[in-house]
Amino acid sequence: MKTVWEKYDAKQMKAVMAFSEDYKDFLDHAKTEREAVSKSIELAEKAGFKEFRNVKKIKAGDKFYFNNRGKSLALFVIGKKPIEEGMNILGAHIDSPRIDVKQNPLYEDNGLVLMDTHYYGGIKKYQWTARPLAIHGVVCKKDGTKIDICIGEKESDPIVEISDLLIHLAKDQMSKPGSNVVEGEDLNALAGSIPAKSKKEEKDPVKKNLLDILKKDYDMEEADFISAELELVPCGKARDLGLDRSMIMGYGHDDRICAYTSLAALLESDKPERTSVCILTDKEEIGSIGSTGAQSAFFENSVAELINVQGEYNDLKIRHALENSRMLSSDVSAAYDPNYPQVNEAKNAAYFGKGISFNKYTGSRGKSGSNDAPAEFIAKIRKIMDENDVAFQFSELGRVDQGGGGTIAYVLANKNMDVVDAGIAVQNMHAPYETASKADIYEAYRAYKVFLKEMD
Ligand code: MN
Ligand code: MN
Repeated sequence: MKTVWEKYDAKQMKAVMAFSEDYKDFLDHAKTEREAVSKSIELAEKAGFKEFRNVKKIKAGDKFYFNNRGKSLALFVIGKKPIEEGMNILGAHIDSPRIDVKQNPLYEDNGLVLMDTHYYGGIKKYQWTARPLAIHGVVCKKDGTKIDICIGEKESDPIVEISDLLIHLAKDQMSKPGSNVVEGEDLNALAGSIPAKSKKEEKDPVKKNLLDILKKDYDMEEADFISAELELVPCGKARDLGLDRSMIMGYGHDDRICAYTSLAALLESDKPERTSVCILTDKEEIGSIGSTGAQSAFFENSVAELINVQGEYNDLKIRHALENSRMLSSDVSAAYDPNYPQVNEAKNAAYFGKGISFNKYTGSRGKSGSNDAPAEFIAKIRKIMDENDVAFQFSELGRVDQGGGGTIAYVLANKNMDVVDAGIAVQNMHAPYETASKADIYEAYRAYKVFLKEMD
């Protein structure tokens, strides 16, 4: 099989490896949707972007971002043409499967304190046991203060874990189907075992001690868990995989791998013909709903704000802007895995090292729920990718009727714009650690730059 690796000269190899170093750094600092937004803003501001606030007039080349509740982001580089003539949009999601701490989480059981959880997104629950987990998130207090939490990433930090049953006593468990080898309600994270020192008999002394620690270190009370968003994620950094360092293993490639490559492409956009856009959205893993999901009015409202200062405001202009736009809905695809070849149909599988992976459609059971991009639009994409020597492949997520999945593509396509699924193929999708090829990451970044510049 020919891959893009064969075509790289020494200089390109250096560029591929250097880009991956930057991506790993992003991944290590973007383990939650909130952290991904903060890190993206930091990079955008360094590249000259400003938050859109009290802006009276815009001109070609201006760079703005809109921050939605610190959980989703829309970034724009204003083009030479009016926005109503259409935008070139890169969209990706920044939420990943994880284990969320419940609103009333803490309890004590025979001298151990545990945190009850409810998982987020589609996971094989057994994969999340017996491994070090870090706690990332925020605690919002009644007085309006917000405490940022990140425990478990520094080597000196403590961690938590969800225990697994020892193999010696797992006879009954091992005969269960994989979907309930570990039950959702048994995902309780071990968080402490030292009792508070007290003269009188306390009811839950270990829990009391833990609450004392939380009070001392984070100024939080037990009731503050109610207004907290705490996410348990695999701790540690993304790592080079393979003795040739050709791949990266890390938490949350889905979909920060497309988010980062899209963002990096946008940050380099300079006075484009059509306005360049990058949308980084939340809640994709649970249906793209809610104020910070792709279905929110947030993006449309941001476009309205820009049109309002680009000239005479008119509602029709917003509709035209959306209708005349083109979008790459960038999300991870399933990479061919030699351990499980039976789930793919070889001609239409995505392979490591073959570049960015486009999917005409996603969905399941007869393409249900998919966007199914128009052939005319795909022809334009092939043309600009070929002209710019970008490595790409067209693939499907698995054999017909083997399963499937969705993305945010249909959400924006419903606004009547041309959208096609594009992204980077990964192995172990939704596992605590996922794997991707550095060559595909680099080709995706190149593809996004070409799309922003050349799509008309
Ligand atoms: Mn995804
Ligand atoms: Mn996913």
